[in-house]
Amino acid sequence: MIPASFEYHRPQSLNEAVALLAELGEEARPLGGGHSLIPMMKLRLATPAHLVDLAAIGALKGIAVEGGDIVIGAMTTQHEIVGSDLLAAQIPILRETALLIGDPQVRYVGTIGGNVANGDPGNDMPAVMLCLGAIYHLVGKAGERRVPAREFYRGAYVTALAPGEILTAVRIPVPPAGHGAAYEKLKRKIGDYATAAAAVLLTLRGSNVASCSIGLTNVADTPLWADDAARILVGSSLDAATVKRAVAAAEAITSPAADTRGPVQYRTKMAGVMLARALARARQRARNA
Ligand SMILES: Cc1cc2nc3c(=O)[nH]c(=O)nc-3n(C[C@H](O)[C@H](O)[C@H](O)COP(=O)(O)OP(=O)(O)OC[C@H]3O[C@@H](n4cnc5c(N)ncnc54)[C@H](O)[C@@H]3O)c2cc1C
Repeated sequence: MIPASFEYHRPQSLNEAVALLAELGEEARPLGGGHSLIPMMKLRLATPAHLVDLAAIGALKGIAVEGGDIVIGAMTTQHEIVGSDLLAAQIPILRETALLIGDPQVRYVGTIGGNVANGDPGNDMPAVMLCLGAIYHLVGKAGERRVPAREFYRGAYVTALAPGEILTAVRIPVPPAGHGAAYEKLKRKIGDYATAAAAVLLTLRGSNVASCSIGLTNVADTPLWADDAARILVGSSLDAATVKRAVAAAEAITSPAADTRGPVQYRTKMAGVMLARALARARQRARNA
C-alpha cells in the first residue's frame, strides 16, 4: 500500500529538529530508520502529516565510553552495533540481540533509538535495556531529561516520550568483568518478531549467583523486568528447583496476547523456556572476576 501524503523535513542539527517538532506539533513524527514507522504508514495505521528525518544529525550517531557507561547515539544502526568491537568486548549481549533482529536489510537501516522508542512490545532491544539498567536521554523544547528504561514503557506504543521529544542516546552501565549474559529468542522464522524472548545478566561469587537481572520480550503490552524471578536466583547455584521457581515467577507476570504466534498458555510457557535457556547460557559464560 501507499502511505497518505506527508511533508518530509531533514534538519541538520538536534536544535533544528527539536524546534521543528515543537513548531509542527502532534502531526509530526521523528523518523529513525523507518523500518517500523514506514510499514505502519503504508498500512495507514500511522498518518503523520510531517516526518522529521534524524539521519543528517551527526550528534545522534556513534558509540562512546563515558566513565563507567557506554553511550550509544540513537541513530546508530543495529548493523553498527553488531560490528562494534567495543560492544563485543564490554556488552556482548547487545551484539547477540541485534543479530536476532529482522534480517540484514532491517539491521542496516533500523536504529537503536527507533527500536527502543517505538514502544512495540515485539521489539527486542527494550527488554535487554531493562535487563542492563539502561538510561534513555530525551531532548525536547524544555531541555534534556534522563529516564530509566525500567520506567519508560507504559503500554503498547505508549512510552514516557513527550510530544516533540527526541530520544538522543541510550546510556548503559558497563556490566562487571566476568559477568555472563544471554538473549534467547523463539521465533517462527528468520526475520520474525519473538513468540517470547528472555534476556539475562548475572554475576557469580564462587559457584553461586551474586546478582541477576532478567528482561522479557513480547509477552505483555510492554517489555517486562522480572525482578522477583531474579531475586529468587540470587545466592543459588542455579539448581533445577530454584530455576523452576524463578521460571514460575517470571511466567506469572506475563500477559501475552493470543495471536498467530500461539495461544496465551503456549507463549507464557515459552517465556519460561527462553528464561531457563538464557540462564543456563549466561551461567556458562560467567566466570568469577
Ligand atoms: C521485516 C522486518 C522485520 C523486523 N524484525 C524485527 C525483530 O525481529 N525485532 C525487532 O526488534 N524489530 C524488528 N523490526 C523492526 C526494526 O527493528 C525497526 O528498525 C525498529 O523497530 C525501529 O527502528 P527504526 O530506526 O527503523 O525507527 P522508525 O521506524 O523510524 O521509528 C519507529 C518509531 O520510533 C520513533 N522514533 C524513531 N527514532 C526516534 C528517536 N530517536 N526519538 C524519538 N522517537 C523516535 C518514530 O517516530 C516511530 O514512532 C523489523 C522490521 C521489519 C521491516
